[in-house]
Amino acid sequence: MKSPTQSATGKSKYIFITGGVLSSLGKGISSASLGYLLQKRGYSVTIQKFDPYLNVDPGTMSPLQHGEVFVTDDGAETDLDLGHYERFLAYSLHKNNTHSAGQVYFEVITKERKGSYLGKTVQVVPHITNEIKRRMRIYEGQYDFILIEIGGTVGDIESMPFLETQRQINYELSSQDVLNIHLTYVPYLHSSQELKTKPTQHSVRTLMEYGIRPDVLLCRTEVKLNKEIRQKIGLFCNVNEEAVIEVADAENTIYEVPLLFKKNALDEIVLRKLNMPLNDIDMDEWQRFVNRIKKPANEVTVGLIGKYTKYEDSYKSIYEAFIHSGSINNAKVKVELINSEELTSECLAEKLGHLHGILVGPGFGNRGIEGKILAAQYAREKKIPFFGICLGMQCACIEFARNVCGIANAHTRECEEEGIVNEFVIDLMETQRDIKEKGGTMRLGAYPCKLDSNSLAYAAYKSEEISERHRHRYEFNNDYIDIFKENGINFSGTSPNGKLVEIVELKEHPWFVGVQFHPELKSRAVTGHPLFINFIKATLQYRKVYENV
Ligand code: GLN
Repeated sequence: MKSPTQSATGKSKYIFITGGVLSSLGKGISSASLGYLLQKRGYSVTIQKFDPYLNVDPGTMSPLQHGEVFVTDDGAETDLDLGHYERFLAYSLHKNNTHSAGQVYFEVITKERKGSYLGKTVQVVPHITNEIKRRMRIYEGQYDFILIEIGGTVGDIESMPFLETQRQINYELSSQDVLNIHLTYVPYLHSSQELKTKPTQHSVRTLMEYGIRPDVLLCRTEVKLNKEIRQKIGLFCNVNEEAVIEVADAENTIYEVPLLFKKNALDEIVLRKLNMPLNDIDMDEWQRFVNRIKKPANEVTVGLIGKYTKYEDSYKSIYEAFIHSGSINNAKVKVELINSEELTSECLAEKLGHLHGILVGPGFGNRGIEGKILAAQYAREKKIPFFGICLGMQCACIEFARNVCGIANAHTRECEEEGIVNEFVIDLMETQRDIKEKGGTMRLGAYPCKLDSNSLAYAAYKSEEISERHRHRYEFNNDYIDIFKENGINFSGTSPNGKLVEIVELKEHPWFVGVQFHPELKSRAVTGHPLFINFIKATLQYRKVYENV
């Protein structure tokens, strides 16, 4: 895969992706898939997401509302679509790849308070739209293609300033330098057995009211769009028939979408319209990756222990990391999302006994933490492969302190309660003690970590220094290092100065690894992530030994 390079010509072409009719049609996956195809044709590509909500970042939003918070290397807390972009484009994006209306307004209002507008009336047009435009053009000249996904659905009040900016950029650039893609829905009415184009017509009409003419329509549909329907949509929506592209529901994986787009020549249409050469493209590697997802030779069941069980998107990157590492191991990873609030010592065997691996996931707060601690204990005692991520690693440490080191009142300061005396094996860092605000105040983004060469972590990464992303306040309390070591813990990864514990491993166990960081955020399609790959390898091994398959 070609890594991002400077734009060959020093010029950038803009591709806007908007959505219509209804939300959740897959704008993020569509943007990522098109980005991948262009990259595969040898171009440098970046993707930006503009979200219409007023939160300054999604960091303070509940994972139950908005799904997981994705974190970039430079510490931006972002929408989960950025995760899709990184998984498909296979390189790390930055703060400038994600913008919310809240950030835009915050910037404009802060300037207004400072008097930077010299007494002018500050308005949505031009002040907000200028700020949006500045952000949309921040990568100008750095990439061959800048894809800009506008969140929400066309017609929403919140999206208006973003669409107005899109219109202005269309107006300012030549028609060979900008392209508008609109993702829409063509429902199939079972009663009359026909496809309905009216919602698409209305959605395009709304887009045109903003002064934006779509060049390409991506039509999500359950059934095939025949030539006649495509002609009809083309005619009513003012789009070339060949640019009315059917996007059938991917059979069973989102990773099929680039293959679908390729088959329907989306990349060719885009390149022709933008007057760029159709370089060769080789999809073999991706095709093999998808084949193994669709027809794996093996299967394992892994328990994901967490409390955000109502909404799978809360653990989006973990699910995706399992798909990647499953494909690499030629195995389907069946993930069972288990509510830690329902785990008690009485039901552990019933709820966890059949699993080939246990992953205790990230999280915040008191609720459900005892169930996570019990799950770590069960994995340790039954020698089931265990992977603890962030809070999951902290829970494994609390469990080990309580049940192996004999510190019965071990806990994390996150669960401190007045009147209860605890020993905080997980504690607040000095620098975090006086922080009162909730947004953007955690240890966020990429930090280096050095590995012990005699460890499971090293066996996975095959490198002495790695970089992983963080999003947490609490850390392992170094006062307990000696007693943990004496009792069989290997601190296999630490910050380069040795002061922060980043990885813990259990010596007497086939695969027990807890990490303070979030490896799932760096798992990519095709190549996966070393720790997830080896965790799945260990679950396959466990299954082989215990079930004889
Ligand atoms: N709540 C824990 C902390 O802040 C862990 C956070 C997480 O799992 N991302 O340290």
